[in-house]
Amino acid sequence: MTRILVSEVGPRDGLQSIKPVMPLEAKKRWIAAEAAAGVQEIEVGSFVPPKLLPQMADTAALVEFAKGIDGLIVVTLVPNAKGAQLAADAGVDAMSIPFSMSETHSIKNVRRDHPAMLEEMRAAAAIAKEHSIHFAVGLSTAFGCTIEGAVSEDQVVRLAEQAAEAGAQEFSLSDTTGYADPAQVRRLTRKVKAAVGDDMLTTLHLHNTRGLGLANVVAGLEEGITTFDASLGGLGGCPFAPGASGNLVTEDLVLMLNSMGYETGIDLEALLKVRRILAEALPDEPLYGFTPDAGPMLDYKARIAA
Ligand code: ZN
Repeated sequence: MTRILVSEVGPRDGLQSIKPVMPLEAKKRWIAAEAAAGVQEIEVGSFVPPKLLPQMADTAALVEFAKGIDGLIVVTLVPNAKGAQLAADAGVDAMSIPFSMSETHSIKNVRRDHPAMLEEMRAAAAIAKEHSIHFAVGLSTAFGCTIEGAVSEDQVVRLAEQAAEAGAQEFSLSDTTGYADPAQVRRLTRKVKAAVGDDMLTTLHLHNTRGLGLANVVAGLEEGITTFDASLGGLGGCPFAPGASGNLVTEDLVLMLNSMGYETGIDLEALLKVRRILAEALPDEPLYGFTPDAGPMLDYKARIAA
């Protein structure tokens, strides 16, 4: 059975894009319950200035909490070298820095053009290396941008090569805006793998903005992708990409992977119960997902066993 890592990014990507601030205790309950359901990696927050994103102000406390959960890989997003230092001080297992393939988006999002971002990445990678922390780069807006429109695939390949040279240990292709389609996922995954090495591009970060999230997962699986980011209840999107809402729904992703015979290590029924924590803590936020509404298939467990 092929092992697939489902990386929960809801506490970061989901919570950063909604107005209400989830109380720390509720975040802790969420993270603990998902880990208990078998989720092995969680992006618990982001080391951004609290003035910019008050929803992420308790990230250091969450890292400390999550590090106490046996076997859980604790990841945080870092926008720059300053964030990387805070992540290292907090003791994360891995950090991920977003690198927007659309230069306009990069300037709007983090006020840095591509050369400035590569410099920042070099500094962040050095901090990660010094603390033996895994350093991943998320190639965001890789499939298209809400400001620039189409993003050249050759540009994505070129920037991935430069990021590898700047210290990236692993890449994800991020569909920040929900523009990706399965043919594009296949093509771009192949091109980037060919440029930076097969084992360097492991992850897809997909949004379900236009309903193509799971189709894009299948395309990624066929190209050898082994990690998929998702958000419980499809919470969130990108606050800087207008109209982009709804991450890939973790519950739907796990149902599909388990049914297809991939080994996720996640107990779907236990995972579905975690939604209650979100519904209670964020009563006004819509939660998405087909599986939570319909329930698993009658013969779901038999399928997994077969
Ligand atoms: Zn995202």
